[in-house]
Amino acid sequence: AHLDRIAEIDGELGAFLHVGADEALAAARAADATIAAGEAPSALTGVPIALKDVFTTVDAPTTCGSKMLENWTAPYDATLTTRLRAAGIPILGKTNMDEFAMGSSTENSAYQVTRNPWDTDRIPGGSGGGSAAALASYQAPLAIGTDTGGSIRQPAAVTATVGVKPTYGTVSRYGLVACASSLDQGGPCGRTVLDTALLHEVIAGFDPRDSTSIDVPIGDVVGAARAGATGDLTGVRVGVVKQLQGEGYQPGVLESFEKACEVLRAQGATIVEVDCPHFEYALGAYYLILPSEVSSNLARFDAMRYGLRVGDDGSHSADEVMALSRAAGFGPEVKRRIMIGTYALSSGYYDAYYGQAQKVRTLIARDFAAAFESVDVLVSPTTPQTAFKLGEKVDDPLSMYLFDLCTLPVNLAGNAAMSVPSGLSSADGLPVGLQIMAPALADDRLYRVGAAYE
Ligand code: GLN
Repeated sequence: AHLDRIAEIDGELGAFLHVGADEALAAARAADATIAAGEAPSALTGVPIALKDVFTTVDAPTTCGSKMLENWTAPYDATLTTRLRAAGIPILGKTNMDEFAMGSSTENSAYQVTRNPWDTDRIPGGSGGGSAAALASYQAPLAIGTDTGGSIRQPAAVTATVGVKPTYGTVSRYGLVACASSLDQGGPCGRTVLDTALLHEVIAGFDPRDSTSIDVPIGDVVGAARAGATGDLTGVRVGVVKQLQGEGYQPGVLESFEKACEVLRAQGATIVEVDCPHFEYALGAYYLILPSEVSSNLARFDAMRYGLRVGDDGSHSADEVMALSRAAGFGPEVKRRIMIGTYALSSGYYDAYYGQAQKVRTLIARDFAAAFESVDVLVSPTTPQTAFKLGEKVDDPLSMYLFDLCTLPVNLAGNAAMSVPSGLSSADGLPVGLQIMAPALADDRLYRVGAAYE
C-alpha cells in the first residue's frame, strides 16, 4: 500500500531519491513469515520506513543529496540500517535531503525539490525534508532523520509530524555520513509520539564501532509515551525559555505556543519562565563549529577513493583532479561552509573563532544544566516561523540560518529534544511545532510530555 502511495503521489512531492520496491517487498514478506511463526523480532516488524539518504545501505545508493556521491553504493550497512533490518522493518527507499545535511529547506539537494504536503509551494523543512514529507503524505508511517542543528525537529514542525533528536551518543553514527561529527545525531520520526518511541527503541543502543557511542541505556521511551497518553502531567515541572520567543517570531507561532503552555498547565504541569542567557549566541557558535567540522570531514571527498572524479584524462595532475572534482561535485552552500570552516580553523584565527565558539558551547551547556536543576523539561516553539515559500530564502543564507534559532542550543549541548505538532498557525493556517527539551539521557521525559500534549 505504501509503495502504491509513493507511485501515486511522490512525482508531485519529491520526497524519495530512490525507492527500493523489490527489496521492500522481500523484507515485508520475510517479516510476515516471522509474524506468522510467532517470532516477530520487534513491535514494528513489517511496518515500513523511509530512510534519509545519509545512512549507508548495501542494496541502494547513498548520495547525501550530493553530486559528489551520485550512483555511489556503500560496501556496508550503517549500524542504524542493520538495526532496522534486524527489527523486521522494510526500507521503502532513501529520502531527499539538503546536500550533506546542510540547509533548512531541502532546496540544497543536488537532485530535486521536495514539496510540503500541506502547501506544495512551500518548503518541507530541512535538511530532512524528504523524510518529513514522506510521513506527512502517508507515503511511509515511520522515517529516519539526522539532527545536527535541527534537521529532524524543524521538518517535523513544518509538516505536523513528530521528530526526536536523541541524546548525543545514544544512536550510532557508524555508517551515517558525517556532516559535523560532534553535533550529528540520527533519530526517529513518526506521525504519533508512540510510533516514534517504538522506533527510538529499535535504533538506540551502544555501538563499539562509533567512538562517541555511550554504553548507558536510555530511559523507557515506550513506557513513557504510554504513561503520557493518559494526559496526566501532575508534578511535571516545565520551563519556558525566555530567550526563545518574542521578536522575530510569527504571531501565529507565539499564539500556538501560549496555548500549548495552557494545555500543559491544564494537564497538571507547573509552568515557570527560565532564563538561558547564552542561547542567543547559539547561532553564532553553531555556524563556526559546524563549518569547521564540515571543512575537515568533507576533505575525504578527494576523487581518489570514491565519489565523483572529473578531469582524469591524463592531462591533469592529481591535485588538479581533486580540485576539478570538488568544484563540480559540491554545491554552493557546501562550498560556503568549507570556506568559512577552513578560515575559522586557520592559524591566527583559530582562537578568535573556533576556540571562542567552543567556549560559548560550554556556556550553553551550563545554561541547560542550571535550568534542569529546577525544571524537568524546557519548552519553546520549534521554529520561529511556519514553512516559507520555496525559493524565498535561497539567496539569503543568513535568513535561512535564522530559521534554526530554537533548535541549535540542544545540539551544542548534546541533550535530547522533540518536536510535536502544535496545531495550525492562526496567521496562515500552516503547521506549528512545540519543542520539548530534556537533559542528556532523559529522552523518556520527551515522550511523557509529548504524548500528553499530542
Ligand atoms: N539547518 C541546519 C544547518 O543548515 C541544521 C542542519 C542539520 O541538522 N543537519 O546546518
